Amino acid sequence: MTEKMSAVVVTGERKAEVISIPKPVPANNEILVQVKATALCTWEQRVFIGEKKVPLPLLGGHETVGIISALGQGVDPQAYPIGQQVAVRVVKQCNSCYYCRRDLPNLCVELNSFHLNGPEVYGMGGLAEYISLDRSAVWQFRNDVPLKDQVLTEPLACVMNSISKADPRPGDDVVIIGGGVMGLLHIIAARLRGAFTILSEPNQARREVAKALGCNLTIDPMSTDLQAEIMALTQGRGAQSVFNTTAISAVAEQAVALTGKGGTCVMYSSQHPDQPIQLSPNWIHNTEVRITGAVNPSTQSFDQAVNLIDKGLVRAGSLVRASFPYTEAQQAFEASLDPANFRTIITFA
Ligand SMILES: [Zn+2]
Ligand SMILES: [Zn+2]
Repeated sequence: MTEKMSAVVVTGERKAEVISIPKPVPANNEILVQVKATALCTWEQRVFIGEKKVPLPLLGGHETVGIISALGQGVDPQAYPIGQQVAVRVVKQCNSCYYCRRDLPNLCVELNSFHLNGPEVYGMGGLAEYISLDRSAVWQFRNDVPLKDQVLTEPLACVMNSISKADPRPGDDVVIIGGGVMGLLHIIAARLRGAFTILSEPNQARREVAKALGCNLTIDPMSTDLQAEIMALTQGRGAQSVFNTTAISAVAEQAVALTGKGGTCVMYSSQHPDQPIQLSPNWIHNTEVRITGAVNPSTQSFDQAVNLIDKGLVRAGSLVRASFPYTEAQQAFEASLDPANFRTIITFA
């Protein structure tokens, strides 16, 4: 008789439900994690509103933290004590594909094969009472960290990967476009590098949150000419690092134009709709500007995020503005669509 567990799934447009599915049994080298909280990412929100088409029901959830509940064969109970608080890197890393072997595990070809909670439900599986993962995907917290801080591990890991692409140095001008949760985490991460952080965000409340997090300068792109402002600030050079965290292609084009010679422009967010942008090959030739993307957390950036949160170097839990027990899944998904909530989490017992 297989044990059952509850899982939150998207079953249709604007429809989230709790269903019962088999509780996973940890295989060799796996750790069964009892999920405490999972944050709702933009990706799951887009499935919920029907914008992103995937097989339904979708058992999403990849921003997940919990405690160790049971160990598979080959996992040392001394090294992985039952009850220990953990964060999990849900995306798969096969360690044998072309990309994994070139130290690019965030581009692994099996990345989206997910750690399924069973063949009957599609998805990453963090929105369930339990998830079983290879021990290499499990990171322990050593300190007593509030859940709301812990649960931002995966988003922060994505941002640490993004920051590493541009590699800002102390005193550099760093422009971050968009003051949602990802933009704000970029501010925090760029501040750790000693950079001068400039946020472009039309919403005043978000600009205030950014300032409270230590953002050095905020600009309202609706009332100010952002390009002119950045050029004036940098003696006409442009910024060394520019991160676009918005889904708007016109903004992506502007982000490139804000980047100074020898600088890096990172396309952090995916684009909806994905409109091509205009680039001047000659301008790229002459400026040596690097234009790159950042997708998923790398192993190293996940490790960095856990350390930053575990050691209290990053405390971003204030960006989790809404929390619902899994039994209120529908309300949680609805709340996650409100930008004022930054991140909405679903908690399990
Ligand atoms: Zn996410
Ligand atoms: Zn791989």
